[in-house]
Amino acid sequence: MGKRNYFLDLNDLQYKQVKHPFWKKLLHSLFWIAGTLAITVLYITIFQKYFGSPKEHVLNQQIDNIKLEYSIANRKLDISMKALTSLKQSDEIRYRPIMKMDSIPWSIRNPGFGGVDRFRSLDGYINSYLMRSTLERIEEMKNMANVQNESFVTIRDKSEEWKFEMDHLPAISPVDPSFRLGDRYGFREVHPVLGYGRMHYGQDFEVPNGTKVYATGNGRVVESGRNGGGFGNYVVIDHGYGLVSIYAHLSEIKVPKDINVRRGDLIGLSGSTGTSSGPHLHYQINKYGSPVNAINFFNNDITQEEFREMIQAFGSDSMLR
Ligand SMILES: [Zn+2]
Repeated sequence: MGKRNYFLDLNDLQYKQVKHPFWKKLLHSLFWIAGTLAITVLYITIFQKYFGSPKEHVLNQQIDNIKLEYSIANRKLDISMKALTSLKQSDEIRYRPIMKMDSIPWSIRNPGFGGVDRFRSLDGYINSYLMRSTLERIEEMKNMANVQNESFVTIRDKSEEWKFEMDHLPAISPVDPSFRLGDRYGFREVHPVLGYGRMHYGQDFEVPNGTKVYATGNGRVVESGRNGGGFGNYVVIDHGYGLVSIYAHLSEIKVPKDINVRRGDLIGLSGSTGTSSGPHLHYQINKYGSPVNAINFFNNDITQEEFREMIQAFGSDSMLR
């Protein structure tokens, strides 16, 4: 209900109701609506300018959260990158030189993105740079980690190869090192049995009858039995890599032909069979069929105790048995 206005009619001094024409009422209402609308629009405009709409507010919060997550992700990337760099340094400075392996070229370690822009779809947003740089870093790290992983696999393979070779090379004394060394590799003026000058191809050990004789490296027994040529009872082990070891003048043989032995396995007992003037062990190493100086294939500076420990660690047999 609109409010009624009255006015004083000076002609008859009576209050009379003001009668507005309809068009005037309509105009008045339209002005009122227009004014209200104008104020509302002004209000919304100011509010949005300074506070944003509720939807914008939520979106802004989400953007802030995402930014925070990106910055946490970047910090984690920093830590991972540091770890990866230190692995890379160990690889290049330590493992590869020890293994005599070439270093990995820079271009392989840092493969880049191969020319194809995989993150182009992220362009054109307010935070394009943040998203792109983070994803590119992740990609870069993934590539580096792959290269590093492959590198460690080859190092592991190489070291296993090395270990295999090291386990096979004759590398210890065939008897307790507290026994004295006898005749060395080289020309002997007078052979103790034959009585004339002759090349001596092995390293002798002065050991009493029945002294335990051990395999000096992993390998396969290729001869086991009596030798017609003067070695008496003997064992020959093929270690691979062109190397064989020969253990001669044994009183007893403990391993048959064609079995695999490991370093430290008991293979026989010393004696004086064959061309021998008294109990001793003749230990010989041939490389690609030719004798080489066996003294270069073991370290005799170790103590009896160390040797015992070594035999126990390596071999299936131990001195205690
Ligand atoms: Zn000899």
